[in-house]
Parts: sequence; C-alpha cells; structure tokens
Amino acid sequence: EWPETAGAVLVAPGVKGRKVAAFKRDEVNRKDAVSGLIRSIIGPGGDARRAFFVLDLAEVVDLYNGWRRALADVRPHYAVKCNPEPALLGALATLGAGFDCASRREIEAVLALGVKPGLIVYANPCKPESDIRYAAEVGVNLTTYDSEEEVAKVQRWHPGCELILRIKGPENAEAKIDLGTKYGAHADEVVPLLRAAQRAGLNVAGVSFHVGDSATRTDAYREAIVAARGVFDAAAALGMPRMRVLDIGGGFKAGAKFDEAAGVIKNALARYFGELPSVEVIGEPGRYLAETAFTMAARVIGKRKRGEVREYWIDDGVYGALSCILMDHYVPRPRPLASSYPGEQTYASTVFGPTCDSRDEVVVGYQLPEMIVGDWLVFDDIGAYAASTGANFNGFFTSDINTYLAYSS
Ligand code: PLP
Repeated sequence: EWPETAGAVLVAPGVKGRKVAAFKRDEVNRKDAVSGLIRSIIGPGGDARRAFFVLDLAEVVDLYNGWRRALADVRPHYAVKCNPEPALLGALATLGAGFDCASRREIEAVLALGVKPGLIVYANPCKPESDIRYAAEVGVNLTTYDSEEEVAKVQRWHPGCELILRIKGPENAEAKIDLGTKYGAHADEVVPLLRAAQRAGLNVAGVSFHVGDSATRTDAYREAIVAARGVFDAAAALGMPRMRVLDIGGGFKAGAKFDEAAGVIKNALARYFGELPSVEVIGEPGRYLAETAFTMAARVIGKRKRGEVREYWIDDGVYGALSCILMDHYVPRPRPLASSYPGEQTYASTVFGPTCDSRDEVVVGYQLPEMIVGDWLVFDDIGAYAASTGANFNGFFTSDINTYLAYSS
C-alpha cells in the first residue's frame, strides 16, 4: 500500500495511525518533490489506483506559522467547511488553532479530535433547531446570528449560548465569492438585533463579518473593522455588557495579498480597537490554511482522438473534487505526471470527468502532450472547497478519494 520509506513524523489527532511519507523539499521544487511522492504512491503499473490527494503537512505548518507571524494576536479558527480532512483538522488542532464549524457534523468532527468545545465558534447565522440542541448538549456556547428568528431559536434551545452579531461585509471587496448577499445584518438592523438579544436575555459577546472569499481589495478589512467598532459602541449605548470578541472572518489567500491584508488589519485594530485591549480578536480562515497544502493526482481512464484534438477522460471531475471548478472558480492547470522533454509536441486537449454529464468537463483546448490510458494528471493547490463540495453522482463517490499524508522538510 505504501512506499517502504514511509515513517510517521508528525503525531496529531487525525494523523495517528495513518502513515506519513517524509520527503525533502526546497523552496524551488516543492512541486517536483510532491510529484516524486505521487510516483512512489502509484508504484509500477499503477492501474489499480484511482484519483487521490497528497496533503503536505509541512505546508500546513508553514501556513499556520505565517499567520501567527503576521497576525500574532488573532487566533485562527479554521473554517472546517473549506476542507474537513481529519488529518488537516488534527494538525491544526495540534498547532493551537480554534475552529469555525457550521453544522453538527463539523462540530462532531472537531470534537472527535479532542478539541475543547470552547475553541469552537458555531459560525452559521441560521441553524436547524436540532443542531442548536446538539450544541447545547456538547457545550459549544458561541454562535453567530443575523436575524430575530435566530435569537428566538437560541433562547428556546440553548439559552446559555452567547451570540456574535454577524454584520454584512463592505461592498466591492473585489472578492471571488460575495457572502454578503446571504449573510450579515445591514447597518439599520444592528440596533434592533442587539435589542432582540437583550430582550431574550442572551449575551451578545461580539461581532463578526466576512469580507468575501479571496478579497483582493484589502481595505475592505479596515472598513469592516470600523463598522464592527460601531456595533461595539451601539451595544454599550444600549447598556449591554461589554463585548469581548471581534471575529474578522475569512477571505484570505496565502501569498502577497495575505501579507497586505494582515498589515491593513493590524493598523485598523490598533486604531479602532486599541483602547479596548481586553477584546479577543479571532479569524475564520478557510482557504488560507488549506488551498496550497493539497495536490490531487487523477488517472487517465479513456481517450479519443479527433484529428489534431485529443480528448481524455480522468477519474475525477466536476461532481468530485474538481467541483471546485464550478463551486469555487478553480482554474485547473493540470500537469502530466510523466516528465516532459524540451520540444515535446502538445495538442489542444479536452479533459472530461468520469460521469455521463456532458458538463463534466475539466479543461477544453488545453495544451497537453500525447497521453495514454493509465497516465496521470496532477492538480496543484486543490485544498479549498474541492473534496468538501463534491457529490456522489453516477456512483463516483468523492468520499472514496484517499488522502495520503506527506511531510516535506
Ligand atoms: N467563515 C464563514 C462564516 C464562511 O462562510 C466562510 C466561507 O464560506 C469562511 C469563514 C472561510 O472563508 P475563506 O475560505 O474565504 O477564508
């Protein structure tokens, strides 16, 4: 099953009992190192394998440390929805992260790792009553809201729960996905929602927002922090107990934009929350901690030649992990696992997923060298909203895609 060289190097819940392959990398050739590992997993022949992921735990450690360096005073509560792979959750728990859970299943997955309920924010402003009851049973006592109906449900089923008022993120954050169309109190709803909680006898512990996924206009964080401060002041004016949590949400992408966003956030926190030093600031990063840590290998299972055009079928598609193409605007840039040579001829190629839906297309008119059935394509940076949004259509179960654990150093 696993290459001889494998040996466990990181012990974390979710990783325990699973083999971890250690390999060397340097900054320049991480992709090559991952490719080498993929080759060793496939082994000679490789026809029995189907699409699988490699999770590079060292990348998770690097990303987590990068967050702690840039935003030392902001504890990340990883947004489980982004990728609930237990080894990722376990590694993050070991590193000291908290968690943003949006459903009972997500809470169960995190608690199963031994994480204390106090490290979980139930960050879904609209929850089924049965799940609110479950949160009460297991002691998850902090949840978001943005409607009066939610106040009534929490009061009835979990009166000991504290609330975080989710406010709408700023307009035009130039985000990939705008979450403000669905969630977040508008400015004129803030006071009525604070009053509703007050009447219900529920404590509003703080404020949250989400500027939108992969927000490129980083000043949006400053605007949201200003708005959040306004809510803190509104609550104080209503005579409510001092709020103690500011949740700056997610929307981060690893790289230069993250550093820029962190700079904006630090300045804004100093300016607008500097006089409230007891406020705990948390974040809910999803993509930032998952995207670049996962690589997927998919096997070519079919081929058709049409003149100069090549068509291939692979064993994952838009109903599987590559659902990220539709759900997350992932731009696939598959690379053949086989090494290429200078001057190798390429062909305009279409790559289909395995289901019978003609929309199950991965790339069209994409230049690839000639491949044969049994070759492999590699998809980099596929850890965000990929496996977690796939389905089981046509009997191709996304949950059947194995994840192999790697630790590169
Ligand atoms: N928090 C909430 C409430 C969300 O809805 C999401 C994503 O949908 C996240 C955090 C994670 O966002 P991201 O992956 O952009 O960091």
